[in-house]
Order: sequence, then structure tokens, then C-alpha cells
Amino acid sequence: MLQHDVIIVGGGLAGSRAALEIKKQNPNIDVGLVAKTHPIRSHSVAAQGGIAASLKNVDPEDSWEAHAFDTVKGSDYLADQDAVEILTKEAPEVIIQLEHMGVLFSRLEDGRISQRAFGGHSHKRTCYAADKTGHAILHELVNNLRRNNVKIYDEWYVMELIFEENQAKGLVMYHIETGKLEVVRAKAVMFATGGYGRVFNTTSNDYASTGDGLAMTAAVGLPLEDMEFVQFHPTGLFPVGVLISEAVRGEGAYLRNSDGDRFMEKYAPKQMELAPRDITSRAITLEIRAGRGIKPDGSAGGNFVHLDLTHMGKEKIMSRVPFCWEEAERLVGVDAVVEPMPVRPTAHYSMGGIPVNTDGRVRKNGTELTEGFFAAGECACVSVHGANRLGSNSLLECIVFGRRTGMKIAEYVGGDRPFPNIEPQAYLDQAQTRIDQLLQQTGKTRLHDLKQRFQDTMSEHCSVFRTDEIMAAGIEQIQNLKAEYDNIFLDDKATHWNTELIEAMELQSILKVGEAILTSAYHREESRGAHSREDFPVRNDQEYLGHTLSFCSDEGVTIEYMPVVINRFEPKERKY
Ligand SMILES: Cc1cc2nc3c(=O)[nH]c(=O)nc-3n(C[C@H](O)[C@H](O)[C@H](O)COP(=O)(O)OP(=O)(O)OC[C@H]3O[C@@H](n4cnc5c(N)ncnc54)[C@H](O)[C@@H]3O)c2cc1C
Repeated sequence: MLQHDVIIVGGGLAGSRAALEIKKQNPNIDVGLVAKTHPIRSHSVAAQGGIAASLKNVDPEDSWEAHAFDTVKGSDYLADQDAVEILTKEAPEVIIQLEHMGVLFSRLEDGRISQRAFGGHSHKRTCYAADKTGHAILHELVNNLRRNNVKIYDEWYVMELIFEENQAKGLVMYHIETGKLEVVRAKAVMFATGGYGRVFNTTSNDYASTGDGLAMTAAVGLPLEDMEFVQFHPTGLFPVGVLISEAVRGEGAYLRNSDGDRFMEKYAPKQMELAPRDITSRAITLEIRAGRGIKPDGSAGGNFVHLDLTHMGKEKIMSRVPFCWEEAERLVGVDAVVEPMPVRPTAHYSMGGIPVNTDGRVRKNGTELTEGFFAAGECACVSVHGANRLGSNSLLECIVFGRRTGMKIAEYVGGDRPFPNIEPQAYLDQAQTRIDQLLQQTGKTRLHDLKQRFQDTMSEHCSVFRTDEIMAAGIEQIQNLKAEYDNIFLDDKATHWNTELIEAMELQSILKVGEAILTSAYHREESRGAHSREDFPVRNDQEYLGHTLSFCSDEGVTIEYMPVVINRFEPKERKY
């Protein structure tokens, strides 16, 4: 059996930042970090637009309080305001630390870090490295992991959380290259497993964003929080769904319908293209529904709108958003200097996740905590984004709460906390049986076929707009699809480098996560942030100003609610 004082699952911004903080607090703490990809290939690397902080380099009027207010208003008042205070107060400091680690941010003429406008932010506060911000930050963090003697297990797939007597004790993991299974025990386990965009058929997320950490947490009977709040980013490149960063609109691009009108005027007259994402995604969907979408031949009645950069000029496009230009050119053959890009909403971000307190400790329910179990980053719900995240607040969450959770883990592990006792053999046998079964199953359903039908169901039944009837039908379909899982077969029977086997396990994760999303959405009979019910179009603070906790079991999902922390900004109507 392997052992580390601390084992972290996930090598993205949250996991890497936490690992470095633990080492900084106490270099003698033995830290292991597992990732099913190489850490440099975590989805964080794809982040484009930037990371928010009230540095005041461009806008001296900015303040952490203004950043906090924008975040809470953007969240439709569902964010926990104590967590938002930590996020926004610590933001300037963590950015400077990143700079000192070697992150190459874009600069102003005088050498200070440059800052740009972003949706829902009332000041120019988004720091960036052109449109490759995630790449710039992640590379520095991962380099530093090696320098600080963090043991990295890359391309190991974590299959199970070992959780006994309300305590996280370790993991069961599978080496993708050799097919070897290992149990690793630890005094503290941290999940930083990222999002779950792959629940939907069109997403900006990478193939690894399958919500494994959430599924493993739910599998041991712990709740998931606010799963109904899924962010659909307004500008996914049509038809592939790949992200065109909000930075493009931050730098001045327009959204236009088939009449050539800047339709955001109707939906958010003040903020226009820089309204928050929930509002902009709904506006695009409504334009398309009203027949003002555009077809590939340029005529009306199609299912995308235009993102127009042509007035910005080649020099600005190539210096500020070169990667977005390249994506459109490479993937759909559009030269954005001279013609508009085709875009439509794409599943992008999960506001919900594993419920944690502001120290990153995982909750057992609305009132009690677990032992030895921590989470941060997109897989966690702390909750700084509530019902809708503002752009450039997620990288910030990963860094602020990654660091903070690292600090708290170092404290928790302390000098002499003993290792937990576990019996590894039973866990290894169970995992081997699961793998053997998947390899030997002789069912009739092709894995990819089942996955496609599931992703289509989620996109049709739980997308930008939702109703009771559509979601009830979706829940029923998911039940049937889950039952079909035992009937899949794999083409690849190899015991090593079997990516189909990994996909089969990931499918189990997205099935579980999808059911939690649909059921949580079905029970919330109001519209708030990204959760938009056509049958309940207004926000209902009387009944639903609370966080959803969903508990998954074989019988289905049960729902409870937990209070929101409101200590600074009283809920108001949200106007832009
Ligand atoms: C295209 C795109 C652009 C974005 N742009 C921005 C932006 O400009 N600004 C912003 O604030 N936010 C942005 N976001 C959101 C932001 O990038 C993410 O929320 C954030 O990077 C998530 O980081 P993370 O550390 O939580 O997880 P990730 O970076 O997703 O890392 C997850 C890690 O967990 C590992 N893992 C998962 N499951 C397992 C398993 N079963 N076994 C082993 N390892 C596992 C993976 O291998 C990976 O290392 C963007 C997102 C996308 C998709």
C-alpha cells in the first residue's frame, strides 16, 4: 500500500496551488498529487480570458468591496458572502504571488500588470496573459511542484474514495499505462478534480471534465451542492462548441442577429455585450427562437448568432485575442478580421459541486463536517458563484481557495497526526472486479452510443431554459439509460492503455452527476441565475433563497436545502 501525508487528486490550478502551499507551510509534509491526465493538460490550461483582482492598475476607483458586490449580484444573491469576501480581499495578493513565481502577465506601458473589462464586473479588473491566461499560470505552478518535491502520479485514474466512519482515508487508483491498481492511504485527501461539462453534448470543456470527483463523493453518501446551476457560456464557436473567450467582448466585439442588430440592447441596455453570462446566453437563445438566428448561408432562421470583431482592427485582434482568432480560422475557416464568427451557447462551468466550508473542508450535511476530506476549485462549492459565475472569477477561486485549503490541510495534518487504518485488499478486489466485469461484459449496447444518448438527453432536458414537464421526462430517461449501463460492451479488451475502459468509468460518473443536476433543477421552482424555469420565471426568495443539497443513492436523489450566508449585501432585483 502506498502512503502520503496528503494525497491530492487533480493537477489543475486548484490542486497544484494547494500542493505548493502545503510544502511552503511545512516542507516535511509528504504530498502526493494524482491526475488522470498529465497535470499540464488539466482543463485549467485552456482558460483564456483572465483572472480578476482589484489591483486598480487601470481603474483606480476599483476596490475589493466593488468586486464583492459584483460577484454577489452576479450570483443572483445565492453566493455565500463570507466566502466572497475572502475571494475578493485576497485577490490582489495572490496575483502578486503568481507574478513572483514567474507568471508572465500582459503589461501596461509602465510595466504594471494590465487589466481588461469582463462581463458583470463594474471595473476593468481582469488580469491576463493575452488569451492564454490558464496556460501561463498552470505552467509555472506545475514547474514549481517538481521543484518542491511533490510526488506526481500522472495518468493514474482515481476510481474510488476510501471513506469510513465519516473520515476520508485514501484512494483506489488505476495506472492507465500498466493496468496496475493501488491503494494509497493518507491523513488528508483533497479533491481538485475540476468540472463536468461532458455531461452535455456541446461543451467548451475538455474530454477529462467528467465530474469523477463529484461522483466518488456522492458514492460514499455525501451530498452535492447547487447542482442545478450550470453555466452556459454565450459564445461557443458554432458548431463545435469550443470556447471563444469573453475577453473578445471585453475588448469590444459585438453580438449581432440575422438583422445585423446588436440585440443585447433589448436585454441589458447598460452593459450590452458585457452583461453576465446567464443573461447573454438567454438573450441569444431567445433571438434564435424568434427566428433571428443565422444560417450558414447568412440567411435568417438558423441556430447561431454573430460575434463581430471586424471593427476592432487586425492589430488589436492579433495582440489581445490571437488565440480566439486562430481557433475560428482553424476550426471553422472564419477570418475574424474581416468576417463575423458564428457562435451559440455552450455548456461551460459548474457553479455547484462538493459542499465545503471556507477552509475547504467537505461537509457531511448542512451542519456537520467530515474528517480528513478537503476540496477546492471547480469541483467544490464554497460557494462564491452562487447561481451564476462571473467570468475570470473561477481561476481566482482556484488560486485563493487552493492556497487557503493548502494552508488548512498543513494545519490539519500537523506534526503527529497518525495514518488511518485501512484494509487495502478488499478495496483492491472490488476495483479489480469492476474492471474485469467491464472488460468481460457481453451486452449489446455500444459505449459511445449510450454516452451520446445520455449527453443528448441532458442537453435537451436541462439546458438554458427548463420546464417541469421537460425535466420530468429527462429524469425518467436517465433512469433507463442508467439501467442500460450493465448492457454495454467494450471493443478494447486490453488490460493496459485501454482508454475505452477509462471512458466507461467516466460514463458512470457523468450519469450520476447528470441525475443530480436534473433532480436538483426539477425541485427548484423558481428562476435564479443560470437556472431559468419557463414555468416559474421569477426569483422566489421566500421559498428558495437556499443552497440545494442532493444526496444520491441507488433509489434516486433526495433533496435538502441549506441557508445562504448573507452578511453584507441584502438581496435586490438584478438589473444590468
Ligand atoms: C475553455 C475554457 C476557458 C476558460 N477560461 C477561463 C477564464 O479565462 N477565467 C476564469 O476564471 N475561468 C475560466 N475557465 C474556467 C476555469 O478554467 C476552470 O474552472 C478552472 O481552471 C478549473 O480548475 P481546477 O483546478 O478546478 O480543475 P482542472 O483544471 O479541470 O483540473 C482537474 C484535474 O483533475 C484531474 N482528475 C479529474 N478526475 C480524475 C480522476 N478520476 N483521477 C485522477 N485525476 C482526475 C484531471 O486530470 C486534472 O488534473 C475556463 C474554462 C474553460 C473550459
